Amino acid sequence: MTTFGEELVFKALYETFPDPVIILDAGRVIRSANPAALAKFGYPVDAFIGQPARLIYADDQEYARRLHNRAAGVDERIARTSTYSYIRRDGSTFSGHLRTTPLIDADGKELALIGIIRDVSDLARAVQEKQQASDMLDAALDAMPEGFAIFDAQERLLVYNRAYVTICGPAGPLIRPGITAEEILQIAQENSHYPDALPDSPDWPAWMAHRMQDFRQPDNRAKIYRYADDRWLRVENIKTKDGNTVVLRVDVTELKRAELALERQRQELQHKNEALDQFTATVSHDLKAPLRHISMFSEMIEDELAAGNQEEVAASARHLRESARRMTRVIDSLLDYAQIAYQITAWSEVDLDDIVADTLGVLGSHAREADVTFEIAPLPKVHGDPELLRRLVQNLVGNAIKYRHPHRRPIVRVSGRAAGQHVELVVEDNGIGIDPRFALRIFEVFQRLHQDESIYGGTGIGLALAKRIVESHNGSIRLDTGFTEGARFVVTLPKRMRKTR
Ligand code: ADP
Repeated sequence: MTTFGEELVFKALYETFPDPVIILDAGRVIRSANPAALAKFGYPVDAFIGQPARLIYADDQEYARRLHNRAAGVDERIARTSTYSYIRRDGSTFSGHLRTTPLIDADGKELALIGIIRDVSDLARAVQEKQQASDMLDAALDAMPEGFAIFDAQERLLVYNRAYVTICGPAGPLIRPGITAEEILQIAQENSHYPDALPDSPDWPAWMAHRMQDFRQPDNRAKIYRYADDRWLRVENIKTKDGNTVVLRVDVTELKRAELALERQRQELQHKNEALDQFTATVSHDLKAPLRHISMFSEMIEDELAAGNQEEVAASARHLRESARRMTRVIDSLLDYAQIAYQITAWSEVDLDDIVADTLGVLGSHAREADVTFEIAPLPKVHGDPELLRRLVQNLVGNAIKYRHPHRRPIVRVSGRAAGQHVELVVEDNGIGIDPRFALRIFEVFQRLHQDESIYGGTGIGLALAKRIVESHNGSIRLDTGFTEGARFVVTLPKRMRKTR
């Protein structure tokens, strides 16, 4: 450098420097500008030199920021806040990054400020476009009903949308970038978000391990899990080439419910078909028996008439009439059974005390005749069809009276209690009892343990009817096979019916 005059070198540099260079005095008046500055701002030298620096700023606020930066001594070679919008003489603007250097004299006094402005319009535009694209993507992700998130190779959360936060349930408020997949799962599990892995269930560690395994080595198949509030979640984890994991969570509750309802309907239909098959077989068998008798006795009458056996004819005619009566009874009870549909229409709160009192009224004369002692405990209330429940109690108490022991004074006990969401009704007697081997069979249509009509009359429909009534209330009925002093029937009914059927 020593071979040339320094001033010459600096002048050449100043003249040829591609970025605008502007020198301001302490009063912020433009004192010098290189050719690049004049060209960039579009001014002839006379119209530029001597003007206040404010001339080149497009925006008052930005100029105020510029003054603020200056007062605060911000290093504008590096500060991010030193990009301003500049205005040319023709009114057009550009984005420029300003770098300033003060010119200090030997006494430390600032003589001037040198500013170099680099046009960063392209960069600013690119940054703005990128920001727009990113905002658009964020908005689209947030609008998605599906939960979406990306975890890095260290299983830390990178990106997620709003639906993902909601689906994380109790872990939702803690979702932030950096939290790990395992932490999220753990928080949700500890707060009972997964009914299949409740905190006090012994299965939860295995369940959690299974979930983490599916996160770490996904088999590319979506899984469906139950979560809080009876809801269902479709979970899909996808490993990307760069080791990240994309997770998709979709609430499929409606779909799952429809599927379950369909499956339930299918099972019900199958159940009803089987019941119908069995019913048809039994009915035809039981209706044929009296019919056979009728035809047999009418043949006998024919023979006896031909042989002139008058006394025998009368006896055969009596048998024939009995068979016909029996057939009428069977048909009547069958019709009765068929009319009690599964669907209940008259729902109300039913006081079982009233139902039992009604029953004792109806069966009164019968019970007095048999000298029955009733022991009736206070009974709970249930939700159901009062007419059907009356039929149920009548059948059970009627049987308890009918199947009394020949050598014991009959006692019939009715009691009940509320047990959680259920109500239990117990009808027991000290009668002849039932062999535990027939505990299920007695509830089938036409199944009687006493074929001799002369001792215990009946058609074998009563308990089948009782079962049908109980099941239409979503309840159950069983014979208590541990009870040996007589027969004890236990009916369980839900306190409140869920009207899903
Ligand atoms: P039915 O009384 O018309 O024969 P049910 O369906 O009411 O028909 O009862 C089926 C069978 O269960 C009866 O035939 C009887 O053998 C037996 N059974 C029902 N209740 C009692 C009871 N309380 N004690 C003894 N046996 C009973």
